[in-house]
This record gives sequence, structure tokens and C-alpha cells, in this order.
Amino acid sequence: MMGSQAAAIRAQEFMRCPFCRAGDFAVIDSRSQDGGFPIRRRRRCPKCMRRAWTVEQIEEIPLKVIKKDESREPFDPAKLRRGIEKACYKRPVSSEQIESIVREVESDVYANHFAEVPVRAIGELVMEHVKKLDQIAYVRFASVYREFKDVSDFVQEVEPMLGEVKGKNGKRRKKGRADAE
Ligand SMILES: [Zn+2]
Repeated sequence: MMGSQAAAIRAQEFMRCPFCRAGDFAVIDSRSQDGGFPIRRRRRCPKCMRRAWTVEQIEEIPLKVIKKDESREPFDPAKLRRGIEKACYKRPVSSEQIESIVREVESDVYANHFAEVPVRAIGELVMEHVKKLDQIAYVRFASVYREFKDVSDFVQEVEPMLGEVKGKNGKRRKKGRADAE
């Protein structure tokens, strides 16, 4: 263990050429897209004159979701997408819009949580995004994530939205109500 640690530190300055095992496989060029990872490095050995690209990548840290019963499962963007798709079923929300929500929530989750994230935090993030796109989809999603216990919970969630619609359009839209059922 100690040996490999020491080797890892030395590698910052010197990488032995993997071909001739003699020369310094030194970096002559580094490239990365948008300044992020992976970083590709062009290396060249002055002894055998071989050249190659090496790739430096951040090792993935598995993010776990803490569920309501305190059990953990791996964070799964595909599962997130399925949940949003279900809420947006037959609603005027494109696959592209759903995909962009998944990406935004994913990057937010990785930026703000390390190792573990409560399922509730993910739900709140998704709701924020879905709310801006489609109110029916939002209520559907909220009903699953917040687990409405009875009708009054549901009304509590929907009422402020009806107020917003009223304020914007002057009157309540009948079509929206019919779709909710
Ligand atoms: Zn070499």
C-alpha cells in the first residue's frame, strides 16, 4: 500500500514509459472539453520516441438515495425520468423538456449532496421544474412525492395555483380542471 502511494506521488513528476520502461513518459499536451474532466494528455517518451494519449478521469462517487423507510438505493436518473414521464403522461411536455429536467436535477443533486441525498430533496427539485412547465403534471408529481393523505391536502396544494391562473388570465380555465380528473 505504502509503495503504491509513493508511486502515485512520484507519478506527478515522472511516469515511466510503459513501452520501453526506461524513459520519462512526459506530458507534451493536455486537453479537456470545457475545462472539465476527462483530461486527455499527450505523452512522449524521449528514449523510445513512442507517443500516446492518456486519460485522466474523476472516479465516480456512487450517490445513494435515502428513501422514506431509511433504506438506501443507488441514485438512478432513469428512474427519475420514468417518474417525470408518468406525471407528464398526455400533457403538452416534450421528451426534450423532460430530459432537460432530469439533467438539471441530476447536476443539482451532485453539486449539493455528497454520498447521500434524501428522496424528498430530489422530489422538491423535480417539482420546482415541473411546476414551471405544466401544472397538471406538477400536481400529479406532487401527489406521489408528498403522499397526499386526503382531499384537503390536495386542495391545499392546488388552490394557490388556481389563484395564479385567475390572476394571469382573468378567469379560471375550465379545460385545465377537466384534465385534472
Ligand atoms: Zn519509451
